[in-house]
Amino acid sequence: MRVAVLAAEAVPYSKTGGLADVAGALPKALRQVGVDSLLITPLYRQTKENLIEHLAIDDLWVVWRGQNYKTQVYYSEANGSPTFLIHAPEMFFRDSIYGYREDYERFAFFNHAAIVLLRRIGNAPDIVQLNDWHCGFAAIEIAKLRRWDSYWHNTRTVFSIHNMAYQGAFGTEELWKLGFGDDFSRNAFSTGGAASALKAGLADSDMLSTVSRRYSYEIQMAENGYGLDWLLRQRSDRLIGITNGVDYDVWNPETDSDLPAHFNAQDLSGKRMCKRSLLQKFFLPENLDKPIFASITRLTSQKGFELIRQTVGEILATGAYFIALGSGERESEDFLQKLKNYAPQQVGIYIGYNETLAHQIEAGADVFLMPSRFEPCGLNQMYSLRYGTVPIVRAVGGLDDTVENFDRVSSTGNGFKFREFSADKFLEKIYEALFTYYEPETWRKIQWNGMMTDNSWENAARKYVQLYNMTRS
Ligand code: ADP
Repeated sequence: MRVAVLAAEAVPYSKTGGLADVAGALPKALRQVGVDSLLITPLYRQTKENLIEHLAIDDLWVVWRGQNYKTQVYYSEANGSPTFLIHAPEMFFRDSIYGYREDYERFAFFNHAAIVLLRRIGNAPDIVQLNDWHCGFAAIEIAKLRRWDSYWHNTRTVFSIHNMAYQGAFGTEELWKLGFGDDFSRNAFSTGGAASALKAGLADSDMLSTVSRRYSYEIQMAENGYGLDWLLRQRSDRLIGITNGVDYDVWNPETDSDLPAHFNAQDLSGKRMCKRSLLQKFFLPENLDKPIFASITRLTSQKGFELIRQTVGEILATGAYFIALGSGERESEDFLQKLKNYAPQQVGIYIGYNETLAHQIEAGADVFLMPSRFEPCGLNQMYSLRYGTVPIVRAVGGLDDTVENFDRVSSTGNGFKFREFSADKFLEKIYEALFTYYEPETWRKIQWNGMMTDNSWENAARKYVQLYNMTRS
């Protein structure tokens, strides 16, 4: 089976969030279970040059808005699978990956170029896996091509939802300029008076998946459906949830090259060294017996940061440390800065994006906070589990599927979980975690349960293969 994965961001070439982790790891995992997979993604200014292996195609001509655009395609296997990076400087060589008024146009171009590329490579894929709104355009283009072009006749599309909150909305008057002026396309894109690339992907892909089982149900309800829950209910027989895996080649405390010391479930002495080094990094006193509470996140309302804001004072009142790495909404960034000024001996902050530090915090912290409002899958809680850092999460989406609340009687569970979106409920779990932290044997058991949890990509890749087989039959 040949599978082409299209994604707007993919590790190690580019990343703003979990989508990149998944898009980078899935093609590799698919190869490991015998699928002939490849990845197509844009080449950004942010892509490190040393990742590129060679120029694969010097002249990929893409007809765009009535003109012929010459693009180039670079090749790499840095993520463990053949990867084609589309080089269209005007579109992708910019200061950031997203955030431009014409993002819809940039990704429509990417989709179109990817389809031209797939044709040029020859040997049409059996499955094209499309990820999030950035790839909704390709769902329609392939659906249309399939009708008259025998090359695409047997190609099927799977659309994977990583986050329903991002819709790729734009004015319907743009549709014809992008080549989607026909009735079929207009119907697919139109919703609530606008065009939505997400809607198009959901409406006309052959199969739909999302990144956890729980989220696959949540998005069928108005609260999390962003006006498209009706469509997901309508297509629920085509929608399945597959929980993301963790790339243990990248996130493994036994081998992680970003860490000052290594450790595993049997021997946690290296974790203590990581904790010491983390405190040093933030110029905090080296009191190793006090727990470090940590947060690594995009500072958006999705992540429930307001619950951290409402409870962090209580955390600090117990003498614990709080370390945060994140960037996003100005108000939350300002809050962190004020918190640091208020308790400089207990608080460490880094406003911005820092991959190495993310690894070091996962390794050195004791408790990881993730009180999300909604969370399609969430990766940080799974990284925490592997790094012996006990997660406190809200029971939504993938957090609910991957974290089991610790039960003192049976000694089962790998973290702490609360349901209601409230500071009181969150605080209850924070206190429970603190109390347990000071019972070393019990804490060790929770860490053990977390570190032994298998969230490897292999399981997930096999489920994708089943999904692809269903899509083809
Ligand atoms: P989302 O995709 O919604 O941001 P996930 O938990 O699925 O959330 O994935 C987030 C990914 O982005 C993780 O790999 C996390 O470590 C990383 N990340 C988020 N913010 C930062 C940051 N400021 N610096 C480094 N890594 C970050």
